[in-house]
Amino acid sequence: MQVTLLDALVGTYRADRPTLVSARGCTVTTDEGRELLDFVAGIGVNALGYAHPVVDNAVQAGLATGLLHASNLYRNLPAQKLANLLTELSFADKVFFSNSGGEANEAAFKFARRYAREVANGDKHEIVALKGSFHGRLFGTLAATDRPSFRAPFEPLMPGVRFIVPGDFDGATSTISRERTAAIIVEPVQGEGGIRPLDARYVQHLRELADANDAVLIFDEIQCGLGRTGALFAYEHFGVAPDILTLAKPLAGGLPMGAVLVTEKVAAPIKPGDHATTFGGGALVSTVAHAVVEHIAAPEFLAEVKAKGELLTTLLNELTLSPKVNEVRGIGMMWGIELNETAMPYVTRAFDAGLLVTTAGENVIRLLPPLVVSEQQIQHAVRVLAQVLQ
Ligand SMILES: *Cc1c(COP(=O)(O)O)cnc(C)c1O
Repeated sequence: MQVTLLDALVGTYRADRPTLVSARGCTVTTDEGRELLDFVAGIGVNALGYAHPVVDNAVQAGLATGLLHASNLYRNLPAQKLANLLTELSFADKVFFSNSGGEANEAAFKFARRYAREVANGDKHEIVALKGSFHGRLFGTLAATDRPSFRAPFEPLMPGVRFIVPGDFDGATSTISRERTAAIIVEPVQGEGGIRPLDARYVQHLRELADANDAVLIFDEIQCGLGRTGALFAYEHFGVAPDILTLAKPLAGGLPMGAVLVTEKVAAPIKPGDHATTFGGGALVSTVAHAVVEHIAAPEFLAEVKAKGELLTTLLNELTLSPKVNEVRGIGMMWGIELNETAMPYVTRAFDAGLLVTTAGENVIRLLPPLVVSEQQIQHAVRVLAQVLQ
């Protein structure tokens, strides 16, 4: 029966993955009744864990209005309030809502091109992205994603993307030009690419190049934003703000939502009809996202994330004693354990030992625990990882 159900899904995901049926706090339960400590959090989506009262109450409040969907023909108050909150908390002046991360980045590319067309001719259309990047699986975002195996079966992708190597200052300087570059997109902490925080001086260099060449700087904080690094936004660690910032994964507490935060400069040329989405910024998801963002942005909450992130840092660094571990990298609640072999078997062993972790690329075990994870759960998870890596 179960096999038949799984067989009705297109084979985009592994058929042998476990089935989850319920969850609470930082623990998920499988259809076999196994309970697992979750250090993946729905790939960074379930920042408040599961069945958190802030999320549950907001869902109830959203349901109570009856207005699950209003469409973009009409305004809805929750979306207006959420946009106001996000601009109060960030560099941004305006917000566009989408339904996913990939869609947020597609919108960011369109907005960057819209601005470029305002200040220059059509030659200024290129997007500069980084080696090791992941920005999504749509034709535009996949074109800016540096993963040959994800790209090859679907080419041709969107033309006009150029890749540069993170940390190569001269490469950036020679690739970014006033005539051709519309946008530079980076993840301040690369996620899928193996949990790699960028060097702050390099990010500042990109900011300077963007300014000097009137290109738009886009920070993709879909994975590293909204408290994951211990700051509300990852860019706060780098001493520079972008012109566009994209959010998604944790934004609406598990419901699908993305957001594109922009400055007035980027928003100014955008007119009705330039971009749209049927579902984006619906009343229910916006109500939930408002509650989630308000909760995460509270200084006490972020201070706790930071403290627990420091504990995680200390404990994980001890794993480098294992000869299997090349390096441990990360920040806050976002960590990669780079092995000198394929990581997947260790993910399976951790699962067998009651801990959910995932990979980031071939050799990296990735940890994205819920931000509400306890110190005891952190200690337990690292103990399990140490055993698994023995
Ligand atoms: C997950 C992710 C995306 C894509 O988001 P989807 O909601 O899966 O489309 C884009 N950028 C980064 C950095 C991500 O981690």
